[in-house]
Amino acid sequence: GPSGLASFWRAISTQAAEALKTQPSQLFIDGKFVDAASGKKFDVLDPTNSLYSPAVKAARRAFDKGEWPRMSGKQRGQIMYRLAELIDRHAEELAHIESLDNGKPVFMSKVADIPLSAEHFSRCLGAGLHACLLVGVLACSPCSSVPPSFSLCKYFAGWADKLHGKTIPTDSAFGKFFAYTLHEPIGVVGQIIPWNFPLLMLAWKVAPALAAGNCVVLKPAEQTPLNALRFAQLCNEAGIPPGTVNILPGFGPTAGGAICDHPGVDKLAFTGSTEIGKLIMAAGAKRVVPVSLELGGKSPLIVDKNVDVDKAVEDTHFALFFNHGQCCAAGSRTFVHADIYDEFVEKAAKRAAQRKVGDPFTDVEQGPQVDEDQLKKILGYIDIAQREGARLLTGGKQHGQKGYFVEPTVFADVTDEMTIAQEEIFGPVQSILKYHTTEEVIERANNNVYGLASGIISNDVNFINTVSRSLKAGTVWVNCYNVYDHAVPFGGYKMSGIGRDKGEYALEHYTQTKAVYQALEPNQPWL
Ligand code: NAD
Repeated sequence: GPSGLASFWRAISTQAAEALKTQPSQLFIDGKFVDAASGKKFDVLDPTNSLYSPAVKAARRAFDKGEWPRMSGKQRGQIMYRLAELIDRHAEELAHIESLDNGKPVFMSKVADIPLSAEHFSRCLGAGLHACLLVGVLACSPCSSVPPSFSLCKYFAGWADKLHGKTIPTDSAFGKFFAYTLHEPIGVVGQIIPWNFPLLMLAWKVAPALAAGNCVVLKPAEQTPLNALRFAQLCNEAGIPPGTVNILPGFGPTAGGAICDHPGVDKLAFTGSTEIGKLIMAAGAKRVVPVSLELGGKSPLIVDKNVDVDKAVEDTHFALFFNHGQCCAAGSRTFVHADIYDEFVEKAAKRAAQRKVGDPFTDVEQGPQVDEDQLKKILGYIDIAQREGARLLTGGKQHGQKGYFVEPTVFADVTDEMTIAQEEIFGPVQSILKYHTTEEVIERANNNVYGLASGIISNDVNFINTVSRSLKAGTVWVNCYNVYDHAVPFGGYKMSGIGRDKGEYALEHYTQTKAVYQALEPNQPWL
């Protein structure tokens, strides 16, 4: 009943306060928490109430002389498995920290962010259950149960002992040779991540790097460093050797810049905006180190005619409003066929107006945006949209007086040249565009600098086949959206990035191939 629910949510807030008492707030270098050289700290904001070199040195030593790259893959996998179990065991606490730091509803941290992070180290859920998890988010029923333990099988922990090379037949005029390849770790990996899924983005980067035997220096976003530091404690507890994982909270140009420019870093991996991604790539180019980039998006979601309009409205709502619109893959250009456009627009506005916004530690669908900068940026885009002639159907303002909340906002009659159809808003603002033909919508969907994700809602297999093969995007979701399975790669075409996170493909960024030719005695038979 209502009073039971109220005490449930109160207990959750108390738990977040408890978790903060033991929350570390220093740098994590070489297995220990230490103060910054400057002795300075910076405040981390709770958005609801609005209110170097030592790390690389430690990672260098851990890689050049330490145990981690020299362990067998099996041993590394066992330690990663323990780490996954610890994340799993502390899921409740990590979920509270995530919501306090980022502002996302705590039930969403519980059903999505934390289990998906644990699963990245140890995996048991299939795509189907993922979809269910996300449908749970979509339905926004308050979920009091932590998902089941994810210790049935392993994903990146499981890869650690499977990174072997090949034997290659040789046939040379110079004699007989036995040739084979070794897949070796790259070395010290500098990783920089954003604030929208703090622990999950960390898991996407750290898990494959560790599985392949690399050592890591990771900078979390300055807005959301808390769970990265809690993760560091769990690394110690799991037995990851000192120096293997180093966490460097700090600001972009200083801490992030130092990682990018440090001669001891052998590879850069970045998730964030395209603007900063270009700087990371330039820094990598100066030292000729490999760079992988997961950047921004402006993803088209195309709704065909002859679909169930109510379901399409719900799916497109989820595609955009999930995580308050702060998703790189957000379905932020909703293309709707002219035959169903009017009905769709009316229902989409109604659905957004019903969205529950408020304190993330209560029964809501949407908490605050992460900080004041984001709030202002989003309100700025809403203003531009109105001035450029988009039709505001619902929302359009800050929600309430306190905190960085934005009203769920829907614009109809958006055209391709409008700013909100071109640029990433990263907020709860849906843009609906009308189309008439398949050829037209393919061309318009691709007419953007980004190419991260895309979606199709249709019952027509020919439409689905034609459009999915024509879209220039790293992911196409068909009759679903925001489904993330760890075995399936994720990354962008065009200015949305270089390389892929997740799955076997992610390991390519964290290994390099060595070819070995071994001369055979002339009379020795081919092995
Ligand atoms: P951002 O680019 O501003 O910051 C990302 C990270 O880069 C932060 O840790 C920041 O401190 C650091 N940084 C900033 N300036 C730097 C510099 N000069 N040198 C080194 N590091 C620097 O992005 P954000 O606002 O934190 O995150 C939102 C962006 O991330 C959006 O564009 C979103 O689409 C993108 N994103 C992409 C993916 C993906 O998988 N493709 C996933 C999540 C977010």
